[in-house]
Order: sequence, then C-alpha cells, then structure tokens
Amino acid sequence: MRTLTAGSATRSAGWDGQPALVHCDVLVVGLGPAGAAAARMAAANGARVLAIDRKAEPGEPVQCAEFVPAMIGQDKVIMGRALRQSIVSMTTFVEREGPHHRDNFPGHMIDRRAFDAALVEDAVQAGAECRFSSPVRAIDECGRVTLADTKTIDARVIIGADGPRSVVGKAVGRINAEIAETRQIRVPLLQPSDATDIFLSAEIPGGYAWLFPKGEHANLGLGVAPPWRARLKPLLAGLHDRLVDEGRVGRQVLAHTGGAIPVGGAVDPVAELGGVTVLLAGDAAGLTNPVTGAGINAAVQSGALAGLAGARIVAGDRQAAAAYAEDIDDTFGASIARALARRRAMMDTYADAGRPSGADMRRGWIAFAEYWAA
Ligand SMILES: Cc1cc2nc3c(=O)[nH]c(=O)nc-3n(C[C@H](O)[C@H](O)[C@H](O)COP(=O)(O)OP(=O)(O)OC[C@H]3O[C@@H](n4cnc5c(N)ncnc54)[C@H](O)[C@@H]3O)c2cc1C
Repeated sequence: MRTLTAGSATRSAGWDGQPALVHCDVLVVGLGPAGAAAARMAAANGARVLAIDRKAEPGEPVQCAEFVPAMIGQDKVIMGRALRQSIVSMTTFVEREGPHHRDNFPGHMIDRRAFDAALVEDAVQAGAECRFSSPVRAIDECGRVTLADTKTIDARVIIGADGPRSVVGKAVGRINAEIAETRQIRVPLLQPSDATDIFLSAEIPGGYAWLFPKGEHANLGLGVAPPWRARLKPLLAGLHDRLVDEGRVGRQVLAHTGGAIPVGGAVDPVAELGGVTVLLAGDAAGLTNPVTGAGINAAVQSGALAGLAGARIVAGDRQAAAAYAEDIDDTFGASIARALARRRAMMDTYADAGRPSGADMRRGWIAFAEYWAA
C-alpha cells in the first residue's frame, strides 16, 4: 500500500513499481481542461492529488474546433502558450441569405493539444501526480475506483472530469441525456480571416456548421442531434464543396475529427458514493452551452472550482460540496437555461415534419438580438 505525497509530482504514462492499491485525497478522473484545472487547484490548496486519463498524451487526439470566446479574467498565460490567432467578429449565414456580421465577438483560436498539455504541466507544477494510459474500468458503490489494469484507488473525493460520457457521472446516476454528434475536417484556408463563420440551416437539426480560421488552416465542421447523424458526412462534404467553389478553402482534407457534445444542460454536480464525495466538472457536469457547444471556458472554470472544493472537503469543510453546487449554478445556470430553452424551441419546430423558419433560426442563435430578447 502506498500513500501519495504532494511532492510526488510526475507526468507519467506507466504505473511501473506502483502497488495494487493506491490512496490519495482527491482523485481526478480525466485530464482534459476540467480535470487538469481541478488537479492544479486541489494540489495548490494542499490536497494529495492523483489525476488519471485514459489517453496516452494530454489533448491527443484533438476533438475540438479550438475557438475560445474571450472572457474577463481568462488565464492569459495559458492562452499565450496555446494561442494560434485572435478572433474579432462573427459572421452568420442563415440558409443562403447574405452574411450577418457581428463585430465585437472576440476570442482566441488555440492549439487544443498545446492548451491541454499546458494545463497538465501547471497541475504537475502545483504538486498533482498526473498519469496517462490509465482508463477507469469501474467505480463501486463504496467509491473505490478500478483501472483497466486492475489497480484500485481509494480517495476521499472523486472529481469526475471525464467528458460527455463520464463513467464517474454514470456511477452516481448523473448522465448527459442529450448529446450532439459532430464531424470536422481541417482544410487549407485560402483567404485569411479573423471571424468565426457560422452556417445555420433547417437541414442541420439541433446544430450548425462552422468555419473557424486558424492561421493558414481552418476547422470546418458541423454538429446535429443524433437522429440526423447520417447527414453529417454529406452536409460537411457539401459545405466543403461550396467553400472550395467560393475560393475560401482548399480541396485537401488535412485531418478528420468529431465527438460528442452534451447539449441537455447541467446535471447536479455533487453526489455521494459510500463515504466518498463525488464532484462533476466540465462536460461531465453538462456545462457546455446547449446552443453553441462551447465548453472549454466552462471546463476550466468549473474544474478549478471543483479542485478548490475537493481540497476544502479534505480539510474538513462540510459546506464545501454544497457551496460548489451553488457556485456552478451561479456561474453557468442562467446562460445554460437560456440556451436550453432556445435549443428546445428550435427542436420543437421539427415536430410533425415541420422545419424552422429564418426567424426561428435567428432567435436560436447568439449573434442575433432575438436570442437575447425576453
Ligand atoms: C468536434 C468538437 C468541437 C468542439 N469545439 C469547441 C470549441 O470550438 N470551443 C469550445 O469551447 N468547446 C468546443 N467543444 C467542446 C469542448 O471540447 C469540451 O467542452 C471540452 O473539451 C470539455 O472539457 P472537459 O475537460 O470537461 O472534457 P474533455 O476535454 O472531454 O476531457 C475528458 C478527459 O477524460 C478522459 N476520460 C474519459 N473517460 C475516461 C476514463 N474512463 N478513464 C480515464 N480517463 C477518461 C478523456 O480521455 C479526456 O482526456 C467541441 C467539442 C467537439 C466534440
């Protein structure tokens, strides 16, 4: 049996020489933005932290369009390490209507792999032990976590930061019930741009298409509600053809990706498993925006809050878990509730073989005043 110490910070793939049962204060499952932020904050506040991820490397493979809307208080140091270009505006196309430009829609295009790696490095610097190639296989009713290699971990707090299909969330019955499916390609960008382009169409139920510039390349993709997933490939190919014809992007496809985005709103982020407190953060807590699918900022913010709460729980603060739930609601509740209402109204237009009008689509998208109206 071995007890982790805060000084045993490593960023390691293997578990060679480790005992079969490991104890720690805070176990973080998932080392994406939420988990890395949680591990850093918990370790910085005195907890003995073990953080694990099934991936072999942080942020790899990338499953993201890599746009982070600008936010007050955003960590410029981390952004700086991963920043690839700035964004100043948004251009929205509703069906084939002319573009609607919206200035002052700032943000950053990042290298998501570098971003995730920088967050993990910060967690390690803070004293967290971060291990990769370590998939969680099961979590029992006492909160004991078993990895695929049969190693088991006992923790006082488990932070579930393991993404949209969270095994930690599943263990406590908090499942992201609504998901959008996505498909994305990276293509050469022939005309430099500092705008995010958004394509809305009745042909894309429960989602939209995007062209996000990243220097000489762009991420071109779309998301839909699952019943329409068969449309992903032909719709993306059609949009790619159109943008090639317009001379905006090249024909070559440099990379493919995709993945699930939770779009059903937040789940209750606090639970108990035996005597173990479970906190959910990021996508595992359903904190992506149900309309835009943006979740990076929310993952980093909620992860940091969860890490702080985890350290406080370990230190004996009995209110910390409830305070975490309250902080999550205060920070994300209103914007997620609005987006969820807009998304549901839009999905209702498809009932009985209907389809949304241009006015419906404008009301359902953040660049239009109608979205923000009461
Ligand atoms: C195609 C696509 C495009 C997107 N574009 C944007 C965008 O432009 N801007 C934006 O803000 N958001 C975007 N998002 C959403 C954004 O990527 C997520 O909101 C964000 O990654 C959430 O961070 P997270 O740390 O909560 O989860 P994740 O980044 O999903 O990290 C979860 C981690 O948990 C690990 N894990 C999962 N299961 C296990 C297990 N059993 N054992 C161990 N480890 C496990 C995974 O390997 C992963 O590293 C996009 C999503 C997709 C799919």
